[in-house]
Amino acid sequence: MKINVNQVWTVAEHWEGNLKPISFELLHWGRTLADKLQTSLASIVIGNAINNEELQKLIAYGADEVYSVQDPRLSFFVCETYARILTSLIQSFQPVVVLGGATTLGRTLLPYVAVKVHTGLTADCTGLDIEEGTGNLLQIRPAIGGNIMATIKTPFHRPQMATVRPHSIKPLCPDPFRTGWIHRIPIQDQMIDSRVDVLGLDPLDSGRSTLDSAEIVVSGGKGLRRGDAFSLIQSLAQDLGAAVGASREAVDRGWISYPHQVGLSGKAISPKVYIAVGISGAIQHLAGIKSSEAIVAINSDPSAPIFQVADFGIVGDLFQVIPEIRKHIHEQKKKKGMECHE
Ligand SMILES: Cc1cc2nc3c(=O)[nH]c(=O)nc-3n(C[C@H](O)[C@H](O)[C@H](O)COP(=O)(O)OP(=O)(O)OC[C@H]3O[C@@H](n4cnc5c(N)ncnc54)[C@H](O)[C@@H]3O)c2cc1C
Repeated sequence: MKINVNQVWTVAEHWEGNLKPISFELLHWGRTLADKLQTSLASIVIGNAINNEELQKLIAYGADEVYSVQDPRLSFFVCETYARILTSLIQSFQPVVVLGGATTLGRTLLPYVAVKVHTGLTADCTGLDIEEGTGNLLQIRPAIGGNIMATIKTPFHRPQMATVRPHSIKPLCPDPFRTGWIHRIPIQDQMIDSRVDVLGLDPLDSGRSTLDSAEIVVSGGKGLRRGDAFSLIQSLAQDLGAAVGASREAVDRGWISYPHQVGLSGKAISPKVYIAVGISGAIQHLAGIKSSEAIVAINSDPSAPIFQVADFGIVGDLFQVIPEIRKHIHEQKKKKGMECHE
């Protein structure tokens, strides 16, 4: 196998043999950077039972090469083991940039590896670029409570490493005719961490996963005034087949649990439609919804900042507007002969 140094790398993530969306989002960032640097883009897959068809998707979404390290002992993420493998790959292939998701896996694995390879890492980036002239990676992320965007560089060490927030970009359109190389890298026994034995996994019961993948999200904020009013949001979400989100104010008041929080210190999401009810549109909230396709705001204050980013706005009292919208939905559903549950 020919070793291409100075590549841009992305670390793919998977679950039960399927690649996760963050793998494809990272490839969009990676493709942009690799093109600017006039180098190639590779995606790293460490895991088990991820078939060729799935690996080929990485090429369709922009990778030139895939380095696949697979073994039944890599089925579950164990930081030390995955880190040993990624560190060894970095030392052998010397990429110039390594990107991971700002996910549980990426936030655990990449800092560990950055220490091992003696380089820096910027966590939670929302933007990436290449500095003209130097070719340094510009790592852009909110700082000082989200009030400024900081641009961070790693000028003296390689690779330049960053984790990137999920939903900070949409994947490229896949091109099934793109061609590339899939390299299968064998694992060495000494890389397996024998101190850790994974006995099983208990899935977390939370709104997190539905919020992540929902096409429509209805979120409630402090404008609801009291916790029991949150049922208005839940009913509207149910009528629309939507997931329920919330501002930090609503979560801090205990009206709904943290996995539903949208924003800088919550989830970044990119639904087709985001409906913000009684939410002012603070910069930290907007950080979580900026890649939504359409934003609908319902707020009694016409000067609320949310209206500056909203595609559709309703100025009004949510306690009147929501029942009106629900009534309309019910009528429409009735017309179409669909059953509607209160
Ligand atoms: C480091 C840091 C991280 C943060 N992370 C997050 C985060 O992840 N997510 C997040 O959301 N916030 C976050 N925040 C908090 C953020 O700054 C705001 O305080 C928060 O988003 C405000 O929530 P809100 O819009 O529900 O409340 P408010 O700002 O109080 O807005 C309530 C809105 O409801 C409207 N309203 C009131 N009554 C009605 C009515 N009857 N009908 C219709 N509208 C009505 C008001 O006009 C107002 O616009 C963070 C802050 C910091 C410093």
